[in-house]
Amino acid sequence: MIPRTLDAVEIPDWKEHLSGAISSPKALSERLGIPITAISSDANKDFKLFAPEPYLQRIEKGNCNDPLLKQILPQHAEMISPTDYSSDPLSEESYNTIPGLIHKYKNRVLLVSGASCAINCRYCFRRDFPYAENRLSKEQWLKALAYIDQHTELNEVILSGGDPLITNDKQLQWLTQHISEISHIKRLRIHTRLPVVIPQRIDHSLIKWLTELPLQKVMVLHINHPNEIDASVKKAIQDIKGTGTLVLNQSVMLAGVNDCAEILSALSEKLFNAGALPYYIHKLDKIKGAAHFDVPEEKMQNIYSDLQATLPGYLVPKLVVEIPHKASKTLFTDSLSANQFNEVG
Ligand code: SF4
Repeated sequence: MIPRTLDAVEIPDWKEHLSGAISSPKALSERLGIPITAISSDANKDFKLFAPEPYLQRIEKGNCNDPLLKQILPQHAEMISPTDYSSDPLSEESYNTIPGLIHKYKNRVLLVSGASCAINCRYCFRRDFPYAENRLSKEQWLKALAYIDQHTELNEVILSGGDPLITNDKQLQWLTQHISEISHIKRLRIHTRLPVVIPQRIDHSLIKWLTELPLQKVMVLHINHPNEIDASVKKAIQDIKGTGTLVLNQSVMLAGVNDCAEILSALSEKLFNAGALPYYIHKLDKIKGAAHFDVPEEKMQNIYSDLQATLPGYLVPKLVVEIPHKASKTLFTDSLSANQFNEVG
């Protein structure tokens, strides 16, 4: 692959950033000037460190408490897991009846179309997802497409993963062309963190694919902290918007990262400024190894009230909880009253 050049300076493309991503504690320690002892090799064995250079550039050197670093750092705390934390907190396996497809909600279906990610987020609820079993052959893809074709109640396909944009453009085109030929499918939604961690992914070829796609398009980014948005991320969002795609963002409330109204308020403002709307902020799913990111419910409630008092309504993301086997996400406040009801009932 020939890197593009600008004034004789080589600019790596997104695949080079991906293949050059840091995956060893020693390399991370040296790159960011943090002590190797801050990185747990046990936690790293459990779930591999993986972070590309464009994301690392936004981390403050020598600061073990940097909010972006905390999202990728294998920590000793991961080895302590309360009993109510599991490897499949949303019981997704029961909806993964045919490989590559999760049909949980009535009118939308999720395709696991990216079998890995461009970054490994320590709190990810799919960190133990069996991606290897969901890496599909062409025949299996055709089976998943046939399922969508037969289920006429569906009107939206969600590409998720892993990260669907890790798939090359040719495969994305093949898959989405077939999806767009199913007459009851009106919308394509793409859940991705790639425009944030490697903004160079939003290149000419991807823009062409999105522009020509004959479906309504929604892209849901995943940004947790305002420091994740720099000029290159803003440009990527603007380019995506230029294809007629609605750009939304979802976050997870994470202790030590964004559990503070000022940070979340700054995030909403920065998202809007970049061209994306805040959509959801999730309560942490109880995935094994991530308990140290949990924010107590009372604190969450206070943060959210402050956020509502600070921001206009359209910049306040919905605070939601995913409850296994429920037909939709649950507003955090409703989940509290349900708990109270259960307690008294
Ligand atoms: S990019 Fe998304 S799916 Fe991948 S590890 Fe991070 S949160 Fe999980």
